[in-house]
Amino acid sequence: MIIDFHTHVFPDRIAERAVSSMAAACGMLGPHIEASVDVLISELRRVDVDKAVALNIATSPQNMRAVNDFAQSLTAYDELIPFGSVHPAAPDALDELARIAEAGLKGVKFHPENQGFCVTEDRLIPIYEKISRLGLICVFHAGMDLRYRGCAYCSPEQFSAILPAFSSPVVLAHMGGYMLWEDVLKHLAGRDVYLDTAYTYGTMPRPLAAELVNVHGADKILLGSDSPWMGIGEHARMVALWGQNEEDTRKILGENARKLLCLE
Ligand SMILES: [Zn+2]
Repeated sequence: MIIDFHTHVFPDRIAERAVSSMAAACGMLGPHIEASVDVLISELRRVDVDKAVALNIATSPQNMRAVNDFAQSLTAYDELIPFGSVHPAAPDALDELARIAEAGLKGVKFHPENQGFCVTEDRLIPIYEKISRLGLICVFHAGMDLRYRGCAYCSPEQFSAILPAFSSPVVLAHMGGYMLWEDVLKHLAGRDVYLDTAYTYGTMPRPLAAELVNVHGADKILLGSDSPWMGIGEHARMVALWGQNEEDTRKILGENARKLLCLE
């Protein structure tokens, strides 16, 4: 089974507007594909990928509930495994985590720069503890982000300090810290945290990727693309070129994710 652990989709009525403003902020012409559910599902079929984790982000306390309602609506699609999101400034963030778990969602995603917090802030501790108690998988955008120049609120060094706060699985996107990969080797390699490959196609040098897979271990690496921003098929082919044996490639492409998500 091949699983893309890092994709994004939006409700049809806002998909085009949402991605065109993000593309403009990054200096991109546009996404690789449209960010709608139908287009993602046909892309998965086209590139022979079985399932995708659809990551959602509450960008404000006000839209948190609607974002999670949308996430829940995605459980209707066999190909999608939607994650929810809470905003740290929402007074009802802890209750919303319970609602996410009750809805059957398997995890939550944070984007520290987008949501205006640093992962080491004390106000996040009760949220991390509740996520752990509920057994939710926690995904963080990690490292730099093209939209937020010069700030990293989830750097490898910052995250290494709070990793012990979690007793449920944590996934750090972009191989643990976009564009901060030497720090990932220094602070996170070999620790009990998953790294996804999102948005590393054409941006992460192959020898560095091979070293990180080798030191961290192929059991804790997950295929991710960051679709619609980058190609799913390109990321799957890239992973196969990183130099590990066939068994480890199989784990990264989907076996690790299948176990983590408790899929049959
Ligand atoms: Zn992403």
